Amino acid sequence: MIMEGKLNAFKLAQQQFDEVAEQLQLAEHVRKILRWPLREFHFQIPVQMDDGSMQVFRGYRVHHNDAIGPCKGGLRFHPAETIDTVRALATWMTWKCAVADIPLGGGKGGVVVDPASLTEAEKQRLCRGWVQQMWHNIGPRRDIPAPDVGTTGQMMGWMMDEYSKLVGQYTPGVITGKPLGGGGSKGRTEATGFGVVVAVREALKELGMEAKKCRASIQGFGNVAQYAAKFFRESLGGTVVAVSCWDPQDKKAYTFSSVDGIDAGFLQSITNVYGTIDKGKARAAGIAIEDGDAWLGKEVDVIIPAALEGSLTGENVPRIHPRVRIVAEGANGPTTREADKFFADSKLFVIPDNLCNSGGVVCSYFEGVQNDMNYYWDLDEVMTKLDRSMTNAFAGMLKMRKARNVYTRNAAYMVAIDRVVRAMNIRGWI
Ligand code: NAD
Repeated sequence: MIMEGKLNAFKLAQQQFDEVAEQLQLAEHVRKILRWPLREFHFQIPVQMDDGSMQVFRGYRVHHNDAIGPCKGGLRFHPAETIDTVRALATWMTWKCAVADIPLGGGKGGVVVDPASLTEAEKQRLCRGWVQQMWHNIGPRRDIPAPDVGTTGQMMGWMMDEYSKLVGQYTPGVITGKPLGGGGSKGRTEATGFGVVVAVREALKELGMEAKKCRASIQGFGNVAQYAAKFFRESLGGTVVAVSCWDPQDKKAYTFSSVDGIDAGFLQSITNVYGTIDKGKARAAGIAIEDGDAWLGKEVDVIIPAALEGSLTGENVPRIHPRVRIVAEGANGPTTREADKFFADSKLFVIPDNLCNSGGVVCSYFEGVQNDMNYYWDLDEVMTKLDRSMTNAFAGMLKMRKARNVYTRNAAYMVAIDRVVRAMNIRGWI
């Protein structure tokens, strides 16, 4: 998570937008509506703790834009949550849904809390409290939250239940990322990592590279990274030589590598729910353990930042090995403006975050569709539809890149902005 003062995520989101708005010569009033969220909710959530005392938590929800459809975006429970992080993530959700061409807008929310400090019962009361503050302004046709950092499928289940009670009818489509059997969709857990690999496959095709000969290095080993590693091997036949993770005990990151390739399934079996790999078990299995930033300098064809915002900086990107051809942004906002300038001037092919990690929100959209129909698809149907959606989104970005001869991130922004502006126009907002 980007810390205030170090790097402001909302400023980054606005700067990315401003650059493309200038290239597109957007009218001033159109820029004004898209540079800022349409509406924001700031509220206090009183929660009774298990010992009987009361604690009050700060909650947020931001609706960046809902011209194309109801707002969509996760809920982050994090002690360093700020309104600017939420604004940035809501803005990026607008562009992500539009690039993916799904009929949803951008939203995001959060609570300033360390969820690990709460008991299960306290977490449940906090989740229900969040819905009690927001239920008039969320809903399957208004705003559909989902899990993000610090929130889980179980929490989505409690929130869906609270909303259903308040509106007086079972409404699974109010929230996505629910567990299977509680209105969840098959494929949601692996969707983002799977989508990252579909985007990499399309980039390899574009660059005329043979997937089976490709090697990858990944930052992070949480939900996105684990499934990106799995499918890079299983779907493409490539080799993942390194992954990394944060060790909260040592307060530092480590890289886990093997020149012959790491076994993602094995590593997953020795990784906890927070994405921290057990160093002792990894070492015993012959996996090399290096410094946290070693993943970046590996001699590979593809690098996949899939950990946190702001990890690729002007300072560290020159360390990327000359063999690397593709940067696949599994994380949201991993690239600072300075690193972006380096990439735009280089021969590296960047698959921008709003396209690269959109598999998660596309599958969430599928979950909502299944909830609406009350008819659930099998895994194969979900993954086939997801592959098609990612492939089409990639093709749309590539077409724009070629038509306007622009950097891939700007091409994705242009596709997204075009769609949002068209919807606002049709609705008479501009
Ligand atoms: P996660 O919490 O499951 O995993 C995060 C991983 O990053 C963990 O392995 C953690 O140890 C590691 N990490 C943290 N700091 C690190 C550091 N300094 N160096 C190396 N590793 C570090 O999170 P996730 O769901 O996999 O999300 C990762 C990123 O992808 C976030 O930016 C998130 O917003 C984005 N994203 C996630 C989804 C999704 O469906 N999960 C969808 C779209 C985008």
